[in-house]
Amino acid sequence: MKVRTRFAPSPTGYLHIGGMRTALYAYLFAKQQGGDFILRLEDTDRERLVGDAAQIIYDSMKEAGLVYDEGPDVGGDYGPYIQSERKQIYLDYAAKLIESGDAYYCFCTKERLEKMHADGATKYDKHCLGIPLEEAKARVAAGEPYVIRQNVPESGEYTFHDCVFGDVTVPYADLEDNVLIKSDGLPTYNFANVIDDHLMGITHVIRGVEYLSSTPKYDLLYRAFGWEPPVYIHLQPIMRDARHKLSKRYGAASYKDFINKGYLKDAIMNYIALLGWSPKDNTEKFDMRYMLDNFSLDGLSKSPSIFDEAKLRWLNGEYIKELSDEEFYAHAQPFMEQVDYLKGYDLKFLAELLHSRCLSFADVGPSECFKDMRTEDDLSVNLTEFLNAYDKLSPDMFVHAKNKTDEKVAAEMLPDLITLTENNYGDGLYPALENYAAEKGVKKGAVLWVYRIAITASPVTPGGATEMARLLGKDETVRRLKYALGTVK
Ligand code: GLU
Repeated sequence: MKVRTRFAPSPTGYLHIGGMRTALYAYLFAKQQGGDFILRLEDTDRERLVGDAAQIIYDSMKEAGLVYDEGPDVGGDYGPYIQSERKQIYLDYAAKLIESGDAYYCFCTKERLEKMHADGATKYDKHCLGIPLEEAKARVAAGEPYVIRQNVPESGEYTFHDCVFGDVTVPYADLEDNVLIKSDGLPTYNFANVIDDHLMGITHVIRGVEYLSSTPKYDLLYRAFGWEPPVYIHLQPIMRDARHKLSKRYGAASYKDFINKGYLKDAIMNYIALLGWSPKDNTEKFDMRYMLDNFSLDGLSKSPSIFDEAKLRWLNGEYIKELSDEEFYAHAQPFMEQVDYLKGYDLKFLAELLHSRCLSFADVGPSECFKDMRTEDDLSVNLTEFLNAYDKLSPDMFVHAKNKTDEKVAAEMLPDLITLTENNYGDGLYPALENYAAEKGVKKGAVLWVYRIAITASPVTPGGATEMARLLGKDETVRRLKYALGTVK
């Protein structure tokens, strides 16, 4: 039997990290079994639809390397792959369930249902199950609004097996006669998932834990049609902390959010693979090839995972280090261009300086520049702060115990450093500073420290004194040395 898995997102314009993880596991499992991976759009909840949401899904999946064999935009033998285009299929199957008594027409008005709940009912009371079928059909034919509900047994229990949760038993009393076909004629998830997974030949259903407790209802439907249910793999949730799920409400939670925050797709996919699965050898940094070779269902986590952005940052930093300077610049440039105070600088050179220090591309500037993508507990750091903080220069900044420098030493050196810079700016600057230290009989570090503080007002910069001078340009470097002299005189 050929393994077939699917990813079935609702096109809400937002591909949640949890969804991306489901897609990744479904892809990995299918591919390593020599099977097919299918994309299906579950768009029957018309209120949640967003314009270009489908395109966001296609693009994000392809970008992340989750290439599907069949799907809305690539076709396949089991289409259509968009549920709203399969309306008649669901209606035909629902009609079969009506005939077999596994489903029934329900004409209850919104008011009746509201009153029922207001009176304390926790689930639908099967009121319309008692309507004789002929009468119900006549009412439907006369144009009365209706839904179709599943007829779930009132007592007893059902046990099914899940690869992560083991044997799961649910009393039927916990389940409701859910709507299968809504009043707009479209199916609910509760119905469409069964019809589609069967007709599309899905062998393994990998999805979020929120569907675990409804699975007995789906199995009842499989049974009513005489179909074999798929193998179930329900995934534990991804949490933001011990109590809250990772969600849009708490900031970044979609694949695109993390791309926009300056993370690399390979790092994101690597990290989300780890949110619910660990390889036997405990490797933490790996690529798609490694995942394809090592993924296994028994490595899936039995408990929820906590999304740890600090770990994603670390991992991303490891991926960033592997980029060439050109690749780094290509990624960092759009971020640098959003930072006003970086205008006019040689961004390519600045990118070279920042490359080994960035854990995310957004580290190239202050968080105000990337507000839209920030969470409250943002972890980014601003590596170009030094270019925007020159007005903080104060004489005490020259103090460095090991280099034996202070304001007085700076006042002595700075006039020489100004002349030296005017005469040697460029490749000759570094050797000139070395010579100067030798002539004066002081440590090279002392000269470089005074120089760097004088032109940046920052003890920490992403490069040494002469790199900072190169970044600032000759005129600005000299201007700052003179200004610094003014502060210590
Ligand atoms: N449309 C459902 C969702 O987005 C799919 C669940 C499933 O994979 O069956 O959660």
